Amino acid sequence: MSATVIDGKAFAAKVRGQVATHVTALKQDHGITPGLAVVLVGEDPASQVYVRSKGKMTVEVGMKSVEHKLDADTSEADLLALIQKLNDDAEIHGILVQLPLPDHLDEDLVINSIDPAKDVDGFHISNVGLLGTGQDSMVPCTPLGCLMMLRDHHGSLSGMDAVVIGRSNIVGKPMAQLLLGDSCTVTIAHSRTKDLAEVVRRADIVVAAVGRPQMVPGDWIKPGATVIDVGINRIDKPEGGTRLVGDVDYESCAAVAGAITPVPGGVGPMTIACLLANTVTACCRANGLPAPEGLTA
Ligand code: NDP
Repeated sequence: MSATVIDGKAFAAKVRGQVATHVTALKQDHGITPGLAVVLVGEDPASQVYVRSKGKMTVEVGMKSVEHKLDADTSEADLLALIQKLNDDAEIHGILVQLPLPDHLDEDLVINSIDPAKDVDGFHISNVGLLGTGQDSMVPCTPLGCLMMLRDHHGSLSGMDAVVIGRSNIVGKPMAQLLLGDSCTVTIAHSRTKDLAEVVRRADIVVAAVGRPQMVPGDWIKPGATVIDVGINRIDKPEGGTRLVGDVDYESCAAVAGAITPVPGGVGPMTIACLLANTVTACCRANGLPAPEGLTA
């Protein structure tokens, strides 16, 4: 068997197109332009790249993009004051503080100072609680992107066995909550899981969010299962240079799976698309309008 490749790049372009359509309608029908503010503290090169591409795509879908770049030694008080200003700004519907923050800043405190209604990363403790209790919330972008791809591929996920490998607050746990919300039977595996291979072999859906290059081999995969690879790992190429790989061994898994996301070009592009989708959702909710269908959990 050779798996269907789930093209996250194409799907993300489609989602961005839907976002752009909603943005146009918000402008024309209500005179509202959704606005996203991104706050970057320090000069981490990877974070700078992410922030640049988030800003570019925000503008491309017709939204207002605001970037705040702060020095690495910015005090907590100054950062919290900026967030408060953005919380109070009616033209800003989404606020994202790029992580990781420099060590002297308390990440939990900073994230929880964002107005939960503007928390487009979905990391605020209120949104975590709302998601856990099945209520409308802002949903973390990466798991939301995985869910959208799974729904697109399968239609209903009801009754499927899903295994999420990884229990981080930004991917593993919210992913498991979303799959549970779609009536999957969910197992969360982690570094202490006994006989991970056997656990994964039961799954109709495998979501790998570990951060270990090519850790999941094809013989862990149930024939026909859907494999969503969240991992982004850079490894050395034998001929020199580096390349990106996921947390699953793509070749051997694709030979057994029914469908699989590649790395790059799978989950990665969906993350920014879902950030834009969350910003439109936040804007609609702030203005008493229904959240756009198909762009929420
Ligand atoms: P974390 O490091 O926060 O979490 C990793 C999880 O994997 C932990 O729960 C850990 O278990 C578990 N784990 C580690 N080793 C093993 C093992 N041998 N067997 C089973 N489980 C194991 O990572 P993130 O969730 O933040 O990210 C995971 C991956 O996804 C990374 O490669 C990251 O780069 C990528 N990522 C990709 C995004 C995208 O847009 N595509 C966005 C975010 C992340 P324990 O809790 O027991 O330590």
